[in-house]
Amino acid sequence: MFFMKLESDGILISLRPFDEVNAVAVVFSRDYGIMRGVMRGALVAKKDKPLVGQVGAVSWGARLDTAMGVFHWEAEKNMAALLMQNPKCLGFMNAAFDLIANLLPERESYQKLYDATLDLLRKMPVSNDAAGEYLNWEICLLGELGYALDLTCCSGCGRRENLNFLSPRTGRAVCDDCAAPYVSRLYRLPIDLGTTYKFLQNICMAMDVKMPNFRAVLQTKKNN
Ligand SMILES: [Zn+2]
Repeated sequence: MFFMKLESDGILISLRPFDEVNAVAVVFSRDYGIMRGVMRGALVAKKDKPLVGQVGAVSWGARLDTAMGVFHWEAEKNMAALLMQNPKCLGFMNAAFDLIANLLPERESYQKLYDATLDLLRKMPVSNDAAGEYLNWEICLLGELGYALDLTCCSGCGRRENLNFLSPRTGRAVCDDCAAPYVSRLYRLPIDLGTTYKFLQNICMAMDVKMPNFRAVLQTKKNN
């Protein structure tokens, strides 16, 4: 019997009941990206009960002949504790975790996004622009998923002035003159959560997955 073991730092981003005492967990780890597995006893009330939003040391093991791995989780800090006091910040955290869990492939490292996610959790409770911090995080996510946005100059003529449009196809800025014939097909700048949502919709469509629920909720709230 072969055994595989992986160890890293990580963020606990999802916990769902497996039965009355055990949970299926998703950890976004620094070295291996998304890891899924069983957290034994995770649903039992106790002092060191695992919580979504904790950062800690994760060890994941699996027998090669079974589908589901098993976690050992040592929480170091609960990053969600401060965020809980602000429903808006909590909504952004849930949306970020939902996007990571649903759009990233398993066991592929995304260190830049991992660091950006830790940054987001650290900055949001002390920032007076939590939405701006979250928007920057989503722009980083889009880049990691192959949709890097480039707003430095016009993709048509290279100018740096009058950049008021964005191409959905290339993710690059377009100036007023170059945009004129195609205005209806372009997104408006500046970028906001509505713009990144459209890119996320394109990604979901290409991957044939549903828009992650917490991100969809964020959009509904924004429009009301
Ligand atoms: Zn131009």
